[in-house]
Amino acid sequence: MKYAKTYDVIVVGAGHAGVEAALAASRMGCRTMLLTMNLDTIGQMSCNPSIGGIGKGHLVREIDALGGEMAINTDLTGIQFRMLNMRKGYSVQAPRAQCDKKAYQFRLKAVCERTPLLDLFQASVADLLVNDDKVKGVITELGIIIHSSTVIITTGTFLKGLLHVGRSKKMGGRMGESSSGLSEMLKKYGFEVGRLKTGTPPRINGKTIDFSKCIMQPGDFPPPHFSFALPDIDMASEGLFTLNQWKDGMFHVEQLSCAITYTNAKTHEIIKENLDKSPLYCGEIQGIGPRYCPSIEDKIVRFADKERHQIFLEPEGKHTEEYYVNGCSTSLPYEVQDQFIHTIAGLEKCQIIRPGYAVEYDYCPATQIYPTLETKNISGLFLAGQINGTTGYEEAAAQGLLAGINAARKIQNRPPLVLGRDQAYIGVLIDDLTTKPIREPYRIFTSRAEHRLLLRQDNADLRLTEIGYEIGLVSKTRAIRLEEKKRLIDETFQKIRKYRYNGMSCEDLLKRPEFSWKDLPEEFQKVPKEVALHIECEIKYAGYIAREKESILKSHKLEETLIPANIDYEKIPGLKQEAREKLLKIRPLTFGQASRIPGVNPTDVSILIVWSKKKAALS
Ligand code: FAD
Repeated sequence: MKYAKTYDVIVVGAGHAGVEAALAASRMGCRTMLLTMNLDTIGQMSCNPSIGGIGKGHLVREIDALGGEMAINTDLTGIQFRMLNMRKGYSVQAPRAQCDKKAYQFRLKAVCERTPLLDLFQASVADLLVNDDKVKGVITELGIIIHSSTVIITTGTFLKGLLHVGRSKKMGGRMGESSSGLSEMLKKYGFEVGRLKTGTPPRINGKTIDFSKCIMQPGDFPPPHFSFALPDIDMASEGLFTLNQWKDGMFHVEQLSCAITYTNAKTHEIIKENLDKSPLYCGEIQGIGPRYCPSIEDKIVRFADKERHQIFLEPEGKHTEEYYVNGCSTSLPYEVQDQFIHTIAGLEKCQIIRPGYAVEYDYCPATQIYPTLETKNISGLFLAGQINGTTGYEEAAAQGLLAGINAARKIQNRPPLVLGRDQAYIGVLIDDLTTKPIREPYRIFTSRAEHRLLLRQDNADLRLTEIGYEIGLVSKTRAIRLEEKKRLIDETFQKIRKYRYNGMSCEDLLKRPEFSWKDLPEEFQKVPKEVALHIECEIKYAGYIAREKESILKSHKLEETLIPANIDYEKIPGLKQEAREKLLKIRPLTFGQASRIPGVNPTDVSILIVWSKKKAALS
C-alpha cells in the first residue's frame, strides 16, 4: 500500500455522468473524490458541441429542477439557443443549445475545483477494492489506494475503447486519449460485459467553408434558456467563463449561426465505392451502434433511395474556427473522408482538421443494477452513464446525478431516490435500462414516455424542484421562487376562469385550437411567459391530462408494491420458463417493474402477486 485516503464517495470518471455525480454527492454533504484520467477533459463533449434537443432537452430541464449542473453550464457557455418543434404539441417542444466546447469544459472544471468537500485527482483507476461483496475503495494505476464504501463508475466509452479509421485501429476512449482495462476487473467481480460502438464526424476549419452556398440557421430571439436557476446566478463571480448575461429578467447572448448544406449523388457514389474500406462493412467492428444516429455510410446503404442527406455545420466555440459536420459521422479511411466531403456544397475547399472515427467499447448491461443505480452484485458500487449502455451527454448526466444522490443517501442512511415513469424522463430512462435488455446504445425519445403530456420541459420545476430542495440540492431562494410561481399559476387560473371576453370565459376560449394566449385581453399579457405556457397547455389538453392522471393512479398500486426481497422464483408454480429466467436475472424491486420486463406477461405478474400474498399470509 503506497498511500491511502478515505472518502465518503469516490467517483471514477469526470465526463457528464461523473461531474453530476461528484457535485451532487459533495453538495449533499459527503466528502467526495473525483478521479479522472485527464483533468483537462472534465465534461468534454466527445461528439457534437450541443446540449438538449427533443427528449434530451427534457432531461436537462429535469436535471436542473433537481439541482444538477448541466443546464446552468449550458446557459452560461452556450453560443446558440433554439426551442425546437414550436409548431408541434407542447409535449415534444424542447430547448437545444450549441455550446462553446472549451468554455463548457473549463467552467465545469472550475465549478468542481471550487465546490467544498469535493477533491479532484488525475488518476486512472485500475481495480476496485471489494470485500464480502461490498466495495471498499479503488486502486489507481500508480498503486494509490483510496478507501470508500461507495464508488460510482462513470467511465463512458473508455472501457477497452478501440478507435477505427478505415482499417487502422488503436486503443483509446477518444481520439488522442488512452483506454481503460477496468471492464476486465468488472468481469472478475461477476459482471456481464457487452460491446457497443458509436462514431463521430470530421471537424473542419471554418475559414475554408464557403457559407454563401449554405443556408444559415440563426438562434432564436430572445434566446430560450435551460436553467430555472439562472436568475440566482451571480454573473460577476462567473468571470472568465461567462459568455452570456442575465439582465433585467432577460437572458442575453451574442449568438453564432449554424449552416445547413446537403450531400448529393456524387458524395453517395464515392461512399458506396469505398464501403469495403469501412470497418463497419468489412466486419472489423463487432459492437452494435445506435440505429437512430447512423454513420453516413449507414445512411447511404439503409436509405439508398434518398437523393441527399442534410448536413449541419456547427461552430465549436467563439475562440476557434473549428466546425462540427453534423450528419456525417464516419469511420471510412481519411482519404475517402477527404474525397467525399469536398463534393458537398460549401465544402469544396474545406480542410479537415480532425478525421471522423468510430469507437467500440465495453459496457455493463444495466439489468445488473437496481433503479438506484447501485449494482446488484456489489453493495456500494454504482454505475452511471455510457457504461450502462446509453449514449448521449444528457442521458449520462441524468444517471450521474441520480447515482450521486443515491450514493450520498446511502452514506447518510437515508432512503434512496427513485423517480417514477410518471414523474420524470429520468424515471423513464432508468426504468427502461434496468428492466429491458438493450439491443443498441439507448437514447431517450419522447415516445418512450407513456405520460409525456405530463412530463413537459416547461413544468420540470413544478414536478421536481421540491424533491431537489428536500434532498438538499436546491437552494431556499429557488424553492421560494417556485412557491411564488405556483401561487401565480393558481391566481391566474382563477382569473382566466372568471374573465369573460366576447361573451365567453377565457378558459373556454383557450380550449379552441385557433386561440392562443396572445389572443387574450391585455391584462393577461403581463403574466410571465412560463406561467402563461403552463396554463395554456393545462387548459388545451385538460381532457387528456385528466385521463393520464387517472391511469397513473390506477398503476400506482402495482408500482409501489414491493416484491418480497427473499422471493425464490424457482419455487413459484405456474410461471412461464422465460418469465422465470428473466425475473431471476433482473430481480425487479416492484410488481410494476416486473410487469415491464419483456417476456414477463400479465399472467406471470398475477401469479407473482397471488404467490406473494399467500406467503405473506402464512408468515
Ligand atoms: P464520458 O463522457 O465518456 O467520460 C468518461 C470519463 O471517464 C472521462 O473523463 C475519462 O477520462 C474517465 N475515465 C475512463 N476510465 C477511467 C479510469 N479507469 N479511471 C479514471 N477515469 C477514467 N453521443 C451521442 O448522443 N451522439 C453521438 O453521436 C455520439 N457520438 C460519439 C462519438 C464518439 C467518438 C464518442 C467517443 C462518443 C460519442 N457519443 C455520442 C457519446 C457521448 O460522448 C457519451 O454518451 C457521453 O460523453 C457519456 O458520458 P459519460 O460521462 O458516461 O462518459
